[in-house]
Amino acid sequence: MQNETHMMLRRITALFITFVAAFNIVACTTTQTTDSANQNSRVSIIVIHHTTANFGDSLQILTKPSSYPVSSHYLIPEPGDPTYGKSPLKIFKLVDESRRAWHAGTSYWAGKSGLNDQSIGIELVNRTWCHASDTGVNPYTGGPDRLCFYPDFADGQIALLTELLDEILERHPDVKPTHIIGHSDIAPGRKIDPGPRFPWQRLASLGYGAWYDDATVIQYWERFRAEPLPLINLQKALAAYGYEIELTGEIDEQTRNVVRAFQLHFQPWAVTREMTRESAAILFALLDKYYPERLDELLQVEEPLDSTAPCENEQVDEPEMTP
Ligand SMILES: [Zn+2]
Repeated sequence: MQNETHMMLRRITALFITFVAAFNIVACTTTQTTDSANQNSRVSIIVIHHTTANFGDSLQILTKPSSYPVSSHYLIPEPGDPTYGKSPLKIFKLVDESRRAWHAGTSYWAGKSGLNDQSIGIELVNRTWCHASDTGVNPYTGGPDRLCFYPDFADGQIALLTELLDEILERHPDVKPTHIIGHSDIAPGRKIDPGPRFPWQRLASLGYGAWYDDATVIQYWERFRAEPLPLINLQKALAAYGYEIELTGEIDEQTRNVVRAFQLHFQPWAVTREMTRESAAILFALLDKYYPERLDELLQVEEPLDSTAPCENEQVDEPEMTP
């Protein structure tokens, strides 16, 4: 008797499961997934930032509601930060990659603007700080006079960053080396992060991002010694590499800002805001490596050389860098 009751219960349970399964099939028929071959990732750019604030403050700023809301997809702490504690360093994921993090602001790279739509933002804790003078104006910027310090990035942070870049590039294989860039590259008038100590060259040697070959730089340096390029060609070359720059043919403030961004990334030992022959040679070595099809046009001189061309004994400004 007990056996019969048990059998009956099992049958009822089986019937119930069949009914639920059948109901689910009916309920799910409104959507059917058939993956199309004709699609790709929305993400084509990776933007590196530094925070200036410590881990605790950065996490607060990047995750809590505020009157000036900002965020990033990832945050990487630095060792020895008391607000992080003693546990091993790990990557903090703050925003899903399928969603927009608010890290880029007004921004431009290689023909695209408003880059929150198509980028992934990575913040590294790096406590850059400045000492401001009580009085005085910086002769180069017209802003407050400040003395700034840029601490190095820790090996442990860079190891975590390369691990993260590996994973991101696997998910978004369309990101080109020239599209792994800094906040300063996409907003040269407003931002200088990740700053002059960020190891772009080391990352490139590990396979992440763009760098130039020294031998090619020497070739262009020799060429420009003999035949300096007019500034308009250099502005066009900066634009061809990806920067937002007006082609004015003049050394104006927007050009100085773009040159500063370029030097912060590719020549951080000589951030002068002046388009020197060395900077021009590095820029053309990059174009030679990544956009060789654009070289002919960029090297073509259409106007007679004038006084705005970079010259050998140009006055070198003191670096102006503000976080
Ligand atoms: Zn930034």
